Amino acid sequence: MTDQAEKPQNPPRRCPICGKPAEHAYRPFCSPRCRDVDLNRWLSGSYVVPGGEDDEADPD
Ligand SMILES: [Zn+2]
Repeated sequence: MTDQAEKPQNPPRRCPICGKPAEHAYRPFCSPRCRDVDLNRWLSGSYVVPGGEDDEADPD
């Protein structure tokens, strides 16, 4: 088989949350639920409130 010339039909993206094939409407996620999960993860993980140092910052 030689299907290198033609572009492969959209390779199914995997939902980064659950690994299921992503849904076009919610890509790169498979559902609004996973999208929400990612959002929450992002909000509680990467997004740090300035001036809110938690543990691991207590030299004393
Ligand atoms: Zn998912």
